[in-house]
Amino acid sequence: MASSTKSPPDAIVPNIVVITDDADVTLRVIKYTQRLKPGDDGNDKVKSITDFNVNTQVMIRNSEFFKTLLTGNFAEASQSVVTLKEHDPSAMQAIFCALHSQYEDWSASSCGLSITKQTLGLSVHSLCDVISSARHFLIEMVELDSWFKLWYEHGDNSKTDPKLMLYPTYQLNHAEGFAAATKKMVYHHTRIEETKNQQHRDLHLPPRVIQQLCAARGRLKTILSNQIWNHISGLLDGSCNCKEKTLFAFLHALKETGGFPVDQAAQRNPIANVLHQLADFDNYFEAPAEAKGCSRCSTDWSSAMKTACAVVWKYFDGLCLDCMDHTQPKFADEHEDYWGHLERDMERRDDQQGAIRQVVQMQ
Ligand SMILES: [Zn+2]
Ligand SMILES: [Zn+2]
Repeated sequence: MASSTKSPPDAIVPNIVVITDDADVTLRVIKYTQRLKPGDDGNDKVKSITDFNVNTQVMIRNSEFFKTLLTGNFAEASQSVVTLKEHDPSAMQAIFCALHSQYEDWSASSCGLSITKQTLGLSVHSLCDVISSARHFLIEMVELDSWFKLWYEHGDNSKTDPKLMLYPTYQLNHAEGFAAATKKMVYHHTRIEETKNQQHRDLHLPPRVIQQLCAARGRLKTILSNQIWNHISGLLDGSCNCKEKTLFAFLHALKETGGFPVDQAAQRNPIANVLHQLADFDNYFEAPAEAKGCSRCSTDWSSAMKTACAVVWKYFDGLCLDCMDHTQPKFADEHEDYWGHLERDMERRDDQQGAIRQVVQMQ
């Protein structure tokens, strides 16, 4: 039987990262190859050791954990190197960066600039490590907001799976990112669900977010169906002799696109695909010869369908983070906050719909 080679931490050379020129304490972050079981010192499982030189005052001002650790009666308070086990060094660097960046002098310093730059390339997967470690060290999430804003602006997030962006943008209070991720999911995903993070199963959205997204997707289907029904209903109410033929041609073309009936089409396809299919209506519709000259039947059905799709494309702008986050009401009264946002969001959507209708009427 092969025996595993033991590699005590002494054998691994620590990587030194100077977070600030004012550093007066070293926080040693040790990452292991696997999660340690209780009682395991992990000496044979060390993956990396990183020594972060940080400023004690910055740490104790932002974290009750470090306040106790670095100023209390713990042995650590008198040591110049304090060990923190089982944290990801890049995630920790992002946290140190976020905390030190509250000081303008630091952000403008060459040290601050280069440290910050290194953290902006962090992968979207590592964001949960950042959040998890911040929680562990009792650091308020709000302290990470500005750093996350920089991270978000730095990368091209258009190709990132919105499911991965959902939780970090929610937790790190990025309204624009949260709206973009939720919008993308509602239009481009068939199944609205959150990805389970295997390393951090405690990190997930409150259930209402997914509920709201499912509701939004349902709403889009209803609006699209209503738009189409209005045309069908208009033909049914017609008094001309060509309405039957026109209705048949209309329904036939809808069926041929593959995007109709909407509910059925949206069962296996994202709303975006259904809209693309329906936008192809033009290729399948053949106006019956009898309908020429009939004011009702000679409607431009293709552009009517394009308009219906445009209304649905414009309807949902993503979830409003303020509405979701009732734990931090913007107004004094949580309930006022709830109703206030709901009304404003509805007005915003109605305004958009009104604008679209105006455009349509002008045509
Ligand atoms: Zn007619
Ligand atoms: Zn709102």
